Amino acid sequence: MKNILLLLFCTMFLQSCSQTQKSNPMENQASKSNPYYSRTNKNKLEVSNEKWKKILPNDLYFVAREADTERPFTGKYNDFDEIGEYYCAVCGNHLFRSSSKFASSCGWPSFYEADKNGVIYRRDSSHGMERTEVLCKRCESHLGHVFTDGPAPTGNRFCMNSVCLDFERDK
Ligand code: FE
Repeated sequence: MKNILLLLFCTMFLQSCSQTQKSNPMENQASKSNPYYSRTNKNKLEVSNEKWKKILPNDLYFVAREADTERPFTGKYNDFDEIGEYYCAVCGNHLFRSSSKFASSCGWPSFYEADKNGVIYRRDSSHGMERTEVLCKRCESHLGHVFTDGPAPTGNRFCMNSVCLDFERDK
C-alpha cells in the first residue's frame, strides 16, 4: 500500500512538473531580473555594456552586445515553427512575427520581414565582408544580419541569432 501511494505521489509530482514546463517552455528567465525588459515601453535605451554585462547571461551578452555569432544549427529557434511573436531577448522590443519565418538551410532562424518599428540597420565591413547588420531599435543590441537571398515577398533573409530572440506563443 505504501509503495502504491509513493508511486502515485511521484506520478503526480512528475505530471505537475511537466505541465509547468509546457506552459512556458521558451520563457527567457533572464528577463525576470532585467529592469530594462519591457514588451510595451518603446523608449530608446542607453545602457552601457558594463551595465548590460551584469544583467544579461554570458551567451546573450557576447552576441547581443559584442556582435559575437552563435554556432550554426545550435540555436533554440533554428528548427522551430511555432506560431507567435519574437521579441528582443535583451529589452523585450517586438522584432518578428512567426508568419515571416521560413525554413532556411543556413543554420540560424531566418525571417523574410522584420517589424519596421523593431529594427535598425548598420553597415558592417568586419571580417573582410560587406554586410548589413540588424540591431534592435530600442536597445541597439546586435541581432544578426540581413541578406538579399531570401524568399518572396521581400527577397530578404534576416539571419538571426536565437539567443537574441525571446518567443511568445499565441494564446
Ligand atoms: Fe532590444
